[in-house]
Amino acid sequence: MSYVSDSSSLNKALRQQYLNLPQGHFCQVTYVWIDGSGEGLRNKTRTMDSEPKSIADLPEWNFDGSSTGQSTGHNSDMLLIPVCMFKDPFLLDPNKLVLCEVLKHTREPAESNHRNHCNKVMEKVKDLHPWFGMEQEYTLLGMDGHPYGWPRLGYPKPQGPYYCSVGADRAFGRDIVECHYKACLYAGIKISGTNAEVMPSQWEFQVGPCEGIEMGDQLWMARFLLHRVCEDFGVVATLDPKPMTGNWNGTGCHINVSTVQMREQGGIEHIEKAIEKLRKRHAEHIQAYDPHGGEDNKRRLTGCHETSSINDFSAGVANRGASIRIPRQVGQDKCGYFEDRRPAANCDPYAVTCIMAVTSMLEEEKNTHELK
Ligand code: ADP
Ligand code: MN
Ligand code: MN
Ligand code: MN
Repeated sequence: MSYVSDSSSLNKALRQQYLNLPQGHFCQVTYVWIDGSGEGLRNKTRTMDSEPKSIADLPEWNFDGSSTGQSTGHNSDMLLIPVCMFKDPFLLDPNKLVLCEVLKHTREPAESNHRNHCNKVMEKVKDLHPWFGMEQEYTLLGMDGHPYGWPRLGYPKPQGPYYCSVGADRAFGRDIVECHYKACLYAGIKISGTNAEVMPSQWEFQVGPCEGIEMGDQLWMARFLLHRVCEDFGVVATLDPKPMTGNWNGTGCHINVSTVQMREQGGIEHIEKAIEKLRKRHAEHIQAYDPHGGEDNKRRLTGCHETSSINDFSAGVANRGASIRIPRQVGQDKCGYFEDRRPAANCDPYAVTCIMAVTSMLEEEKNTHELK
């Protein structure tokens, strides 16, 4: 099997000739949604007569749920409800990408739709102005499923030189990182940065700070852009939390959290209170931090490779081996935010921000029924 996909080798100059054709007053709108796996993204495109100016201009649509693990063949129509619109960095202006919620034909949320409940919780905590920033790590793979740029047989040199690296012998696949960054900026994603990670071919981008439900919306669309950019280059981005066993770092999705009280002078007191509440719900959080109730994260949260053990809760200033880290600057300023390092790379950001808001921002006695 070749290392990159065949379609990435099609003639891109020829493709550009067609992409340059004028399209009149028509607008191509690509609807994007989360499939039944809770990890995969699907999309399909329709023509609209004019450019939609807001979500209100976008009609509901449907798809065949029996082909996405979301319904049986007998009653297969699922509804797509547009919730968030972005500029399309592939087909360019005025074309759009639209993130959708999936509803069953009864208009109940689909099993994999964690946005619906998350949105209700965010409404309850909106006076606290909850800010989130998520650090999405991922690993690039060739079409053969082996990490991109690794020797076909054997392994690269041990970890050490790769984190934030430069040079052809240590930074593998930077084209993808840079193109994804530009695509995010064009689309309107609040991407705040990017860096090479500890394992070769492993990278990270950060999205945030985002308020409330916006965190999940932005991160899901940023993931779509990543997979789409990778498709152009013929490689694959995996969010598997431990793609390589052995002495190689896993892949996480740290979440940084603050409320208006935590950001104000003396806010560390509120950060410490939140951490004590999180301590009591360690098991529930682990369950929500990957799509398989903790099974995926079991391979990653070993207590080695800058992780905490999946069985223990810990917190500390500047401690990257703890469940919760208070950044050193926040410890000094006595206000700011904290970082939960437990979520796996393939977590659903709606599920993660939801349980985070329930546990750390709602009154303890009022919030148990909000855990789903
Ligand atoms: P790390 O040192 O853990 O690698 P990064 O620089 O990768 O941290 O990511 C930090 C994240 O924290 C960014 O996504 C940023 O948007 C977010 N962040 C910064 N300030 C706040 C805040 N007050 N509340 C919530 N998130 C924040
Ligand atoms: Mn980071
Ligand atoms: Mn990282
Ligand atoms: Mn981090």
